[in-house]
Amino acid sequence: MGKERVLIVDDEPMVLDMVSAYVSHIGFEPVTARTGKEVLERLRNEPFPILVTDIKMPEMDGFELMEKVKSEFPDIHIIAMTGHGASYTFTDVVTAGATDYLNKPFTLDEMMAKLNRVSRERELIRDLKQKSAELGSANEELQRLNNLKSIFVSGVSHELRTPLTVIKEFISLMLDGHGGTLTEDQREYLGIAHKNILRLTNLIDTLLDFSRIESGKGLQLKFESARLTEIVEDASITLSQMLEEKRIEFENRLDPDMPPVLIDRNRLVEVFINLINNAMKFTPAGGKITIDTRGLTESRDYLKVLVGDTGIGIPPEDLPRVFDRFYQAQSTGISMGSGLGLAITKEIIEGHQGLIRAESRLGYGTSFLFTLPLLGANNIFRLIIQPMLVEAEKDGLSFSMIRIKLWDPKMKKDAALSYDSWGSVKYALQKMVRSVDTIVPFPNSLIYIFSFIDGKLAREIGERVEVKLTQGGYLPKGTEVQSKNYSYPLDTGSVEDFLKGCRQLIKTE
Ligand code: ADP
Repeated sequence: MGKERVLIVDDEPMVLDMVSAYVSHIGFEPVTARTGKEVLERLRNEPFPILVTDIKMPEMDGFELMEKVKSEFPDIHIIAMTGHGASYTFTDVVTAGATDYLNKPFTLDEMMAKLNRVSRERELIRDLKQKSAELGSANEELQRLNNLKSIFVSGVSHELRTPLTVIKEFISLMLDGHGGTLTEDQREYLGIAHKNILRLTNLIDTLLDFSRIESGKGLQLKFESARLTEIVEDASITLSQMLEEKRIEFENRLDPDMPPVLIDRNRLVEVFINLINNAMKFTPAGGKITIDTRGLTESRDYLKVLVGDTGIGIPPEDLPRVFDRFYQAQSTGISMGSGLGLAITKEIIEGHQGLIRAESRLGYGTSFLFTLPLLGANNIFRLIIQPMLVEAEKDGLSFSMIRIKLWDPKMKKDAALSYDSWGSVKYALQKMVRSVDTIVPFPNSLIYIFSFIDGKLAREIGERVEVKLTQGGYLPKGTEVQSKNYSYPLDTGSVEDFLKGCRQLIKTE
């Protein structure tokens, strides 16, 4: 490596000669200048790591020079040569940009000490910058690999799913006797195979969910109104055999007459399956799993739900981390899952703008407490209208809300749909609108359809629904069906105006 060059400026030739001699004696290569102007010209032509400058100079003094040099060449190190009995302090010199100073007259040793210190500092900073650049590119590389991993996981999961579905279907066919009569043993073996394929499919679905969440795509929930008891039943049916085998009591204490919730049905079944499945894994035979509610949240539009068990519990130090991805408590030694179940559960609950937390006492049991949105104007607005409108705005789409009202002309009042007939009405509606649309009955005499369509199409669909529902035998004879629609963009008015209008329209019901 060549010698480090030091630019020296002083208006007195004698000082310049002496300092040059020192500098070259110490092992650096001196370059001299007589004025501040000359320094700036030289620096603009070639870089210098270190500048040694006098303070008292005619025309441009050391302070002015340091300021100019620092603003143009921030990386340069400056040593200021200060005079005795001067009107400035060391602090002034450093504030002006000097790394260090030398009080005139100074010895060779003093000069050596300062130059070496500045040179060392320069090396340290250079190393630091290099390390930081290396870290930066290592980080980029990690991010790239992380991305590749997500793409890989998602790709492989998709690939695995197809053959698995085929295997599952054929095993089902055989179990149903389509391949001839089965012996008891054959039925048992196929049953075990079937059960494990279900486990594998669940695992793959979990991985797919996980890569969706990781890629920032989110879970894309489809909200509908539902009864919580039914969702819990769906989940517990899937697990009933295991519950029996493990001799764990299962108690669903939910009141069937509870107000309906506004949720993604399949996702919520998944939440209960995850939580009950975990409770089962970590609860010994003879234990109990309970599903219950804890009333409403303060805002009164969310329901507090509890899934509790009498199992081994979670150590307090592990409790804050159970929702982390890939997390499995070390102490239990039971490892049958992916460690993703609770991470996805949390993601689903948060997708409903709810909260989830765990409470546990080692040796006594664990409770998962979470909140779920009730069917109501606020939540329809928050979970359906607002996000759909944001999406419409972003992608330049139209957005419409179609309101279907059921009216009993004889009784002169709203014709409330029974919960059972709602099922067939929903089926009929679903066949008329696209699968991306959201349909919500609210309460029972009103149905809302939310869709990315413009006002004209919304009106057409509204009319088609009127005809279909009146003539299709879905409703009690004589029931009148009236549709109305509200669409964005408005002829006049902003997104805010539209939202306000939507809010008013739902609120008044
Ligand atoms: P896994 O698929 O491994 O079960 P989860 O995310 O569902 O992953 O759970 C993470 C960890 O949290 C589990 O491995 C277990 O240590 C702990 N855990 C979850 N639920 C319970 C429970 N009901 N009782 C005790 N420990 C639990």
